Formats: sequence, C-alpha cells, structure tokens
Amino acid sequence: MPPKGRIVVDDRYCKGCELCIVECPQNVMELDLSRLTPKGYHPAHLKTEGCTGCAVCALVCPEAAITVYRETVQRGES
Ligand code: SF4
Ligand code: SF4
Repeated sequence: MPPKGRIVVDDRYCKGCELCIVECPQNVMELDLSRLTPKGYHPAHLKTEGCTGCAVCALVCPEAAITVYRETVQRGES
C-alpha cells in the first residue's frame, strides 16, 4: 500500500499561486473556492484522498505555507 499523508495549509501565508497544485504528483490538490484567506486569496487544500505525504507541495511552496504529515506504520510483534 502507498504511504498515507495529509497536509495543512496555513491560510496566513498561502497566496493561491497554485504551484503546489501543479506539482503534486498525485493530483490531489486544488484551490478552495469556498474560502478566502485573510489576504483575500483562495487557499490550496486537499480535494480528495490519495496524498502520500511526499512533501513535494511543501518544497515548492514559495511561502512555506504547507505542513505535511505522514502516517507511520507500527510494526507488530510476531
Ligand atoms: S504553493 Fe503555497 S502559496 Fe501557492 S497555492 Fe500552494 S500553498 Fe498556497
Ligand atoms: S504531500 Fe505529496 S501527494 Fe500530498 S498533497 Fe503534497 S505533493 Fe500531493
């Protein structure tokens, strides 16, 4: 199974430039047209499941607005 991840976009910094959306290898991001940031931009968000936590979006974001969380798998004792 591919690793699972999720992202949090900080509305204070996102300027809706869409770089993360273009670069996401899983194509799971879009602008949230239902919300505006304090500066008046539509912020990026996850549009669907499938984020792998690869962190490409965070790397390309010029505002460092994205934090990536990656699910870790606990190995059972056997
Ligand atoms: S790259 Fe950063 S600033 Fe641009 S839309 Fe994505 S989160 Fe917002
Ligand atoms: S961590 Fe990777 S898969 Fe998840 S939204 Fe960012 S670029 Fe896309």
